[in-house]
Amino acid sequence: MRYRSVAVDGPSGAGKSTISRTVAGRIGFLYVDTGALYRVIGLRCLQTGELGLDTLKLTMDFSGGGQRVYDNGRDVTEEIRRHEVSKAASDCSALPEVRAFLLETQREFARRHDVIMDGRDIGTVVLPNADLKIFLTAAPDDRARRRYEQLGEGAPPFRQILSDIEARDRNDANRAEAPLRPAPDAVFLDTTGNTFEQSVSLIEGLVRERLRL
Ligand code: C5P
Repeated sequence: MRYRSVAVDGPSGAGKSTISRTVAGRIGFLYVDTGALYRVIGLRCLQTGELGLDTLKLTMDFSGGGQRVYDNGRDVTEEIRRHEVSKAASDCSALPEVRAFLLETQREFARRHDVIMDGRDIGTVVLPNADLKIFLTAAPDDRARRRYEQLGEGAPPFRQILSDIEARDRNDANRAEAPLRPAPDAVFLDTTGNTFEQSVSLIEGLVRERLRL
């Protein structure tokens, strides 16, 4: 059986993960957040000062409904969401050895499941033959506001989140290896000003139409 895949790429805070997770739930696909994998490596770097890829066993588990990630058996699902891990993940993600390390893990998942996979290079590098590619973006202010609300209590000031998001955009778009950019055959969607439900139904509609679900 051939499994189907939807690639969702775009900058941070565009709503990729919440929208993709919801649509995946509605159509019975597995939602894979590839940013979490880069975050595991970013967390490692923060804690140990090195990548340590030769000893890293990075695993994912979906049995509880959501995606959980493990660094050598240690569940780091919550820890990787810390604000300082975002920058570390972005820095590590520019390294070719990190991208090569994660490539097969991501492809392997798509070979064995129907997936909606979100990231930065899913449509361009990881799954160039995806059944549907979406590039999701929104104005930096909108994205920073979402991140601010997600982080909740203890969030850094809004201005800092905004400038961190802009710095991360530059990092991700300008790196030599797999830079963030829409695949030529991606559907480009700007969600600025949309409600969550508007974005979800737009994307669910696209997916159902293209995949004939
Ligand atoms: O999506 P999230 O913000 O959690 O990703 C953290 C970082 O991981 C991003 O800033 C980006 O640099 C990197 N990343 C990537 N390629 C992906 C997913 C994430 O380079 N497919």
